[in-house]
Amino acid sequence: MKAIQYTRIGAEPELVEIPTPEPGPGEVLLQITAAGVCHSDEFVMGLPAEQFGYDLPMTLGHEGAGSVAAVGAGVTDLEIGTNVVVYGPWGCGRCWHCAQGLENYCSRARELGIAPPGLGAPGAIAERSPASDPTSPSSGSATGNLLRASASSPVHTRRMSLRRTGVRAANSSS
Ligand SMILES: [Zn+2]
Ligand SMILES: [Zn+2]
Repeated sequence: MKAIQYTRIGAEPELVEIPTPEPGPGEVLLQITAAGVCHSDEFVMGLPAEQFGYDLPMTLGHEGAGSVAAVGAGVTDLEIGTNVVVYGPWGCGRCWHCAQGLENYCSRARELGIAPPGLGAPGAIAERSPASDPTSPSSGSATGNLLRASASSPVHTRRMSLRRTGVRAANSSS
């Protein structure tokens, strides 16, 4: 399959042909339909070797959406063709940061081998990308991608803004 990879420190990202990943236990393989390019991608590719903390080559893309193309062992709640977005800031779900909804600052991520897609785990600027199914008993593996219904970002943003403003919305259950 085709993917955009960062292959060498300081080099431009490249369009390459790589093997299509297989979904592991608790994972699905997505047919990517959209992938964002973010300021973080530019930032990471601007880091010198001594500050660059990922293995190369690295498939870029931490803002992916797609449809389920294949399911791994233990995934029972997602069918082929289901449209999803990938929630990048995956965490353990149990530490102080995760309890605040700040999974991107999970204090156990390194210990548990959790890395966001495109920032250590295979990214979404590719034809296909693996992602974890958080409802599967075997999820939480090293790929670290959390897969959620397409409302994860707006829900999180709304939750945070309600907390900051102290506004109590009448429809807060939605
Ligand atoms: Zn970003
Ligand atoms: Zn955590």
